[in-house]
Amino acid sequence: MDPSKWIDVTPEKFNYHLDHFVIPTHYEKDVSSILIPHGVIMDRVNKLARLIVDESNGPLVVCCILKGGHQYFADLVNVIKKLTTKSGNSVPLSLEFIRVKSYHNDQSTGEVKVSLTEDECKEFKGKNLLIVEDIIDTGATMVKLLEKLRQYEPSSIKVTSLLIKKTDRSNGYIPDYVGFAIPDAFVVGYALDYNEYFRDLDHICVISEHGKERYAN
Ligand code: 5GP
Repeated sequence: MDPSKWIDVTPEKFNYHLDHFVIPTHYEKDVSSILIPHGVIMDRVNKLARLIVDESNGPLVVCCILKGGHQYFADLVNVIKKLTTKSGNSVPLSLEFIRVKSYHNDQSTGEVKVSLTEDECKEFKGKNLLIVEDIIDTGATMVKLLEKLRQYEPSSIKVTSLLIKKTDRSNGYIPDYVGFAIPDAFVVGYALDYNEYFRDLDHICVISEHGKERYAN
């Protein structure tokens, strides 16, 4: 996706004060600001679904990258189901779930573990895959995953990530559909976790030092 087509929330003005929205009381001290309020996320998901359907070419195998991608995946699939292409056809969907892990606390480990069996991968042959990810940071996870999936000869692979981090550590990988570009900070909420916490927070927020210490492993 051309960067002019995504929403850049890196400028300081996008750090909404916690008082401006409702935050679960158990997280009040654990986040420093709200970067993307839940309503804005939902509106953007509608637009991304529209773009995906407009460019779709037959049935899609929508692959959820667990666990962080599950909320975006669920909301995106819900919208896609209700849309039709320019020629008036709905898009047949099948759903697949892939567990990928590469982080410890707030640091990328550089090691990417993908849980997919050979039998599951063989199902991808000749299909149009849509990979649904929560966030691209260095890009290492996605590059590794795509390498693995291509071996199984799908007819096409497109990737959507709700977030892309603006960071010097990026390997240059850019997905086909991106929601928001975010600053180089560790974000939580909307199913993005820190050691399994914050998945129950609707807004996308920047974690505070207090939060990092409290939930460190
Ligand atoms: P990458 O391989 O691109 O460096 O990292 C991708 C994965 O790291 C994501 O799927 C996500 O699980 C995790 N990750 C990267 N940055 C963040 C972040 O700011 N917050 C959270 N919660 N996870 C992140």
